[in-house]
Amino acid sequence: MSAMKPLIPLDDARQALFDQLSVIADVESVSLNDAAGRILAESVVATINVPPKANSAMDGYALAAKDAVAGAELAISQRIPAGAVTTPLVSSTAARIFTGAELPDGADCVVMQENTEACDMGVRILQTAKASENVRAAGLDITAGEVILEAGARLTAPALGICASTGITHVKVFKPLKVALLSTGDELVEPGVALQPGQIYNSNRPMLVELLRQADFDVVDMGQVADNHQATRDAFITASEQADAILTMGGVSVGEEDHVKNAIDELGSLNLWRIRIRPGKPFAAGRVGQTPIFGLPGNPMSALVTFSLLARPCLMHLQGAVYKPALRIPVETSVARSAQSRDEYMRVELHAGVAQRVVNQSSGVLSSALNADGLLHLPADVEIKAGERYDFIPFCSLLTS
Ligand code: AMP
Ligand code: MG
Repeated sequence: MSAMKPLIPLDDARQALFDQLSVIADVESVSLNDAAGRILAESVVATINVPPKANSAMDGYALAAKDAVAGAELAISQRIPAGAVTTPLVSSTAARIFTGAELPDGADCVVMQENTEACDMGVRILQTAKASENVRAAGLDITAGEVILEAGARLTAPALGICASTGITHVKVFKPLKVALLSTGDELVEPGVALQPGQIYNSNRPMLVELLRQADFDVVDMGQVADNHQATRDAFITASEQADAILTMGGVSVGEEDHVKNAIDELGSLNLWRIRIRPGKPFAAGRVGQTPIFGLPGNPMSALVTFSLLARPCLMHLQGAVYKPALRIPVETSVARSAQSRDEYMRVELHAGVAQRVVNQSSGVLSSALNADGLLHLPADVEIKAGERYDFIPFCSLLTS
């Protein structure tokens, strides 16, 4: 693969990788209590209505709408706390009712407590109510037979709640992919060791371990690989035996100390290299044997951006997830600059809805990510003028969608 090939636009790169990769995760049935963050292997269909019966949205009085007229005085014929069993409403009476309690047959509205007062008869209605007022109809949330979650959806907190609301105890999900994580770079040492001349601490490793964990992958941390061809090859072979997919950091640039691409080429196929983005141009992807491998550039910001925009979506795709693009919100920018040949994903802070460039955009400056709210996508070949709108991608969406 020649370095002279044109850079690949991000969307084309992601689509090409999706086309080359299919789901490799096995399926298992797990208790809903253990299913948080997992990807559904089959759609979930509701077997009941939620709520199953009409119930009250308010503390107040349930009655027939024809009786719910301002000034009417009614006897109270039953009391229905949440969870109680009702009896049919005696004609022209009211039932004392509480939020979440089922409406008795014969009642079709609830007058909220605040719109009533006590009287000798029982209760006086102060404000006329219409049919179905303050009533949550049966099936308001979910109807029996409805597909509530599609295969490929992630079991987020609300998704778990919705499953539980229909009485589901177990779900079929994909087993978490094992992702081998390897750092390259002879300059790197782990915190806890005194730095020798020429060395820096490995900051990408804990960052990527956490990013993988947040996506609920099973991380196989394979530590560090020496910057030489044989060590890189050996590590890749071991990783391909131990994991479903491989994620590397560093060693994908053009220098002779960058061994990742050559090793991939020899052990399988280098399918994609160099993306038309900044930061993160040297991203590489391919296979070691049959095992998918994603090579992040070593600069910490490049690693974070390419993981978020490319490696993570591809790993989620292998995991069986339906791709859900991160949220893009058009916001005004305060940035002005001439056209550039690559799409830029600029770290920005939002102030009063305006995207402001975080001062240092060097791909080695990870502290800039701490202060930023997300990335502003400035397209290639376009002069950027202050006051124009561009897509803002919040970090929280980028790393969870
Ligand atoms: P590379 O992609 O190997 O050419 O590395 C590019 C830059 O990122 C170099 O300055 C490396 O020292 C730095 N770098 C590579 N890997 C890491 C890492 N795991 N943690 C911190 N910096 C790194
Ligand atoms: Mg290196």
